Amino acid sequence: MIKIEISKTLQSKIRKGYPWVFRYQVQNRIPEGKPENLAVIYDHNNRFLALGLWDPDSDLCFRVLNLGKPREINTGFFMERLQSAKIIRAELERQGTTGYRVINGENDGFPGLVLDRYEETLVLKLYTSSWFAFLDELCELFQQEFKSQQVVLRLARNVSKSLEANSTYRDGQVLYGDGNSSWVQFRENGLNFLADVVEGQKTGFFLDQRDNRLKIQKMAKDQSVLNVFSYSGGFSIYALAGGCRSVVEVDSNPFALEASLRNLKLNFPEKSFPAQKFTQKGGDAFQILAELKSEKRFFDLVILDPPAFAKNKKHKAQALEAYTRLAKAGAEVTSGMLFAASCSRHVQANEFYDAVCRGISFAGKKYKEIARTGHALDHPATFAEASYLKSVYLRVGP
Ligand code: SAH
Repeated sequence: MIKIEISKTLQSKIRKGYPWVFRYQVQNRIPEGKPENLAVIYDHNNRFLALGLWDPDSDLCFRVLNLGKPREINTGFFMERLQSAKIIRAELERQGTTGYRVINGENDGFPGLVLDRYEETLVLKLYTSSWFAFLDELCELFQQEFKSQQVVLRLARNVSKSLEANSTYRDGQVLYGDGNSSWVQFRENGLNFLADVVEGQKTGFFLDQRDNRLKIQKMAKDQSVLNVFSYSGGFSIYALAGGCRSVVEVDSNPFALEASLRNLKLNFPEKSFPAQKFTQKGGDAFQILAELKSEKRFFDLVILDPPAFAKNKKHKAQALEAYTRLAKAGAEVTSGMLFAASCSRHVQANEFYDAVCRGISFAGKKYKEIARTGHALDHPATFAEASYLKSVYLRVGP
């Protein structure tokens, strides 16, 4: 097996639970062309430290699978980890939620692997090609454990790119089941949703915002709501279920707006939605917010849940500036509560909150912070880099 050497500092970080080694941190020369997908690290006293997934094509070349004691990586090993992950999520089913994250990568002992459940469908997303060697075994294990009708494979962009032209695998492939439809239905806090598990963003739905959506539902009664970056309408449906007065959705993707309409019909099949109750605006959020401002439109509750503005560390300053601009534009049309979220992992929570507050001040408004929130329980974060979602609720006034 490939053996990698790393500094004492990194050894002690790994011993404390940090799960990654980057290429530049490997101190020894690794023989080229070894098609192995596992590697091992021994500490400076030549004692076993960690066994992990080895991915020579990636800068993130080693991800810890097992720490402390050598172990065979087999179905029993995966089963143990899966059972621990299931225990954490057990209460979700009791709350009327059948769409949730079953395995959150490193944080559940499956580094670089995400498993999302949409009722009868499982979506397995891989962030490293090292998992391909275990794919058949995992697919069978997961399918049997959940008695699911379908298992769909999704691949992160870097994994898709690294595939050979004649590879057995591709993004969106149905690993198990008939794959009749890419749209699957599931429940979240008792509401119904459809997700496109083959073409949709992430694995089809933004499961990580479930707790925030529930909070929005609870504060939505009689409110006029502006849902910016609405995707498939998650926040809108919750707001409507909470008895809001009206919803305006904004998204630049026509497929997202269409998906939102589907979710609207699914949840409120008997209701009609005249324009004063529900409207969609397709286009750029910044531009639409500027138009709403010039029309002197105000909303009691404004939701800003944009895509990641910082795709990597280099874009951090730019991203913070964009969060400030967005918060300013949002605050300009808010006459009550502003909810702002960030899923950029390269932006720290405090930096994000500061950027949002600065934006509200630039709009010439005052604010009072009501709450800060983070990950839902099915998205545990066991090391700093894993915690990406931060959100804040602010009461905004003149
Ligand atoms: N709030 C959503 C998730 C948002 S994902 C939920 O809870 O499900 C981000 C969304 O922003 C995507 O639907 C994407 O189409 C949209 N988007 C990206 N850039 C945009 C822009 N400049 N203007 C408007 N929408 C944009």
